[in-house]
Amino acid sequence: MDFDQRILVTGGAGFIGSAVVRKLVSDTAAQVANVDVLTYAGNPDSLSAVADSDRYRFYHVDICDSQALDEVFAEFCPTAVMHLAAESHVDRSIDGPAEFIQTNILGTYSLLESSRRYWSGLAGDEKKGFRFHHISTDEVYGDLQDDTSLFTETTPYAPSSPYSASKASSDHLVRAWQRTYGFPVLITNCSNNYGPFHFPEKLIPHVILNALHGKPIPVYGDGSQIRDWLYVEDHAIALIRVLEAGKIGETYNIGGHNEKRNIEVVETICSLLEELAPQKPDGVARYRDLITFVTDRPGHDARYAIDASKIQRELGWAPEETFDSGIRKTVSWYLDNETWWQRVLSGAYQLGRLGESAAPSKFKGDE
Ligand code: NAD
Repeated sequence: MDFDQRILVTGGAGFIGSAVVRKLVSDTAAQVANVDVLTYAGNPDSLSAVADSDRYRFYHVDICDSQALDEVFAEFCPTAVMHLAAESHVDRSIDGPAEFIQTNILGTYSLLESSRRYWSGLAGDEKKGFRFHHISTDEVYGDLQDDTSLFTETTPYAPSSPYSASKASSDHLVRAWQRTYGFPVLITNCSNNYGPFHFPEKLIPHVILNALHGKPIPVYGDGSQIRDWLYVEDHAIALIRVLEAGKIGETYNIGGHNEKRNIEVVETICSLLEELAPQKPDGVARYRDLITFVTDRPGHDARYAIDASKIQRELGWAPEETFDSGIRKTVSWYLDNETWWQRVLSGAYQLGRLGESAAPSKFKGDE
């Protein structure tokens, strides 16, 4: 990939952000600056493959801190921003929405303003080439009640949770900055991601790790909620493609064409573990016996499904992984990378950077 840029990635220590950073460093000639405040979801271990690259640098900065952001812009002089920093866990947004409003709305506002100040000072080709790519979710569209319709780029916004409402707000801000100031933005809305380095509070890693530990596997309601799953590396490739060739002001939906009921996902993982990790914990006859149905989440969306035909037609992107190939890779990755997830479970991944002692992480477990 011929891609010689200076890209400021926010949230690059998170699940998708770290996949984007790894991909930019390994597959392009880009210089990458990662701006991340390292919340519980930020894990520098996920960046060990790029940490020593001379094309990668890290800024421990909160996107709500405009002065610190202005300094990063002045020092790094980016040609583009890829904005992934966010609070991203729906359950946490229900328990405590304040941080979602702070980071997802006010943080996006402060990043937009720092980026616009910097862009306003550019001239000629540098100004023309600058892009602000806002990475968002299909959850802004609310949910689908039938089995056939799909979210398109023109589906009206109808977010259900504090998380999706805060992301919807940030999308509106980004669009308004384009309309009002002519600021060169791109927006992508993606379906549920899964894959390596996924924080264990999310459904797929939570199921894998609970099964390996012989713990109950909680499934909300009857497990009939449908999600459209995309392998995280396919998402990273799509994001780089949009940055490279997307049209200013446009929105692109990104999806995996992999609609699955939550219960199907859980059962698939259990079957793969039977094959790949046949040595089960004491007292467990079959991994699927650990499945436990729990009270549904309030406002739980029934179905998400993405129409990704625009990005395919206009930018030539399509996912490389099917759900079968991606979920097999994911389960294998967790089996082969126990050190990564043990350090998350013990809290050791946060040691030495937050001035805190290691405390075991607490997880609730869904997307
Ligand atoms: P994540 O929770 O794994 O990572 C978020 C990262 O942002 C962390 O590294 C965290 O430290 C950082 N961060 C949080 N607040 C910050 C702040 N104030 N300043 C600087 N850094 C901060 O999230 P993810 O799953 O990688 O998602 C990345 C983006 O993609 C989010 O915007 C999310 O809404 C969007 N998205 C996620 C999915 C998904 O399935 N995970 C799907 C579609 C879209």
